[in-house]
Amino acid sequence: MSKKLSAGSDKRVEIMTSIKSICLFCGSSNEVEKKYLDLADELGTYIASHGYRLVYGGGGVGLMGAAARAAYQAKGEVLGIMPRFLLQKERIFDDVEHRIVDTMHERKQMMYEESDAFIVLPGGIGTLEEAVEVLSWARLNLHAKPMAFLDSGEFWKPFFELMDHIVKGRFTPAEFLDQFTHTTSPEQAVRALEDRFVQLK
Ligand code: AMP
Repeated sequence: MSKKLSAGSDKRVEIMTSIKSICLFCGSSNEVEKKYLDLADELGTYIASHGYRLVYGGGGVGLMGAAARAAYQAKGEVLGIMPRFLLQKERIFDDVEHRIVDTMHERKQMMYEESDAFIVLPGGIGTLEEAVEVLSWARLNLHAKPMAFLDSGEFWKPFFELMDHIVKGRFTPAEFLDQFTHTTSPEQAVRALEDRFVQLK
């Protein structure tokens, strides 16, 4: 399938892609260093201005809120999926399309079903849980949707070291590491998803 992607304000390029929706897993904390919120903002803008829909947890707080607001301001399509009991705590961003579900499991299932690929920004235990569960489904061949971890090179380093340790112990085959990658810019992350999407189709 062919899709027009804008590659800057004055230039448009045509690339082959089937990725339409990118799911974002990221932190909900407002207490983090500004550089993390800035990266979320940059990613939201990039996703929207390159014609992808952003699917995320629906919140207006932390990196979630920063990414969603940026995508919305860049006139992108955004879908937020929020469990009812978190409506107050995660302060739903209701300027964009949103769906209210009953449980965390329903949220995660819907985020997964509505997306073709995943980007993981810095986050806490919730982010880690969401990313690892989707990876564990890939490990069971339940899907082949690619995932890119995105930071400035340092945040997810211990996670990749842990994965190497797991592979060295032969608990997971080395080939599984091709399913996901560590990237340091929104452009690199989205390109990595596109490359892997084609490769895994
Ligand atoms: P955190 O990284 O801890 O700030 O959490 C990021 C997001 O993950 C928040 O929106 C949490 O509500 C969400 N989250 C935490 N645990 C889960 C879970 N088990 N399933 C789905 N979402 C979760």
